Amino acid sequence: MKLWRIALACVLCTAALLTGCGSSAPESQPPAGKIPVVASFDAMKEFTEAVGGDRVAVTTLIPAGTEPHDFQPTPHNLKSLLHARLFICNGLGMEPWADEVTAAVGNESLITVDASRGVDAIPADSRRERFDPHCWLSLEAAQTEVQNIADALAGADPDHADYYQKNAAAYKEELRSLLEEYRAKFQSVPGRHFVTGHAAFAYLCRDYGLIQDSVAPVFAGGEPGPQQLARLADLCREYGVKTIFVEEMVSPRVSETLAREVGADAETIYTMESAEEGASYTDRMRDNLEKIYRSLQ
Ligand SMILES: [Zn+2]
Repeated sequence: MKLWRIALACVLCTAALLTGCGSSAPESQPPAGKIPVVASFDAMKEFTEAVGGDRVAVTTLIPAGTEPHDFQPTPHNLKSLLHARLFICNGLGMEPWADEVTAAVGNESLITVDASRGVDAIPADSRRERFDPHCWLSLEAAQTEVQNIADALAGADPDHADYYQKNAAAYKEELRSLLEEYRAKFQSVPGRHFVTGHAAFAYLCRDYGLIQDSVAPVFAGGEPGPQQLARLADLCREYGVKTIFVEEMVSPRVSETLAREVGADAETIYTMESAEEGASYTDRMRDNLEKIYRSLQ
């Protein structure tokens, strides 16, 4: 049995404690007048804030700096769900613990939102048994996620439905315009291949007709063996890859070694799985696209 499953049993005790003694845990009590929303990780929080504006108080369940693919819920993480109205998940296997967690918390007014519903999902492996969850890294799929979040907020707070739908329309327009800007730019680049830390960019690649190769697979975790590294190094030489993209949380050491070996630069790329001080989703997406674009010149 996984540790977090045992730990979940304690959540209900925590709930009883909070109600019983009337004490409040500051991190689990949302500001008055705002709709308490829990998002699973950073990109979901950003989309929800863009749509919810000053009507929502959004926290993330997965703490900053935690690799979401390795995340295991603890009672402390789950406290916020006791008082939340909505729980925004990406879906597609990004939060495999979500069903059990919401069942254990027992908050009957909690609405769980599968933000990726309706996205054209990409299989994670050739057996097509599970899907690649990283659709928020596509400006196309992100618009679907934003709309699903807007519809969920409008359903939970119908008096302000127009407000959510207007915010969603404006934000989707911002995403669409960035998507079109880079569709035009990528049409003229000679290269198609880029190398990243973990294979998080299949959806982004689909938007622009690009091809990713990576040091770690879709669900992160583990480091590549010498054979896989040698294959990647060969590929970098074959396609003249000039930049190896490095993520904070996945094998930066391996990516940097590979970059040195093939004489490429190592540059940061954002997966938006964790917050980055002072950089919004669109800031980081533009940064990603511009760096990929320059690396393919
Ligand atoms: Zn990932």
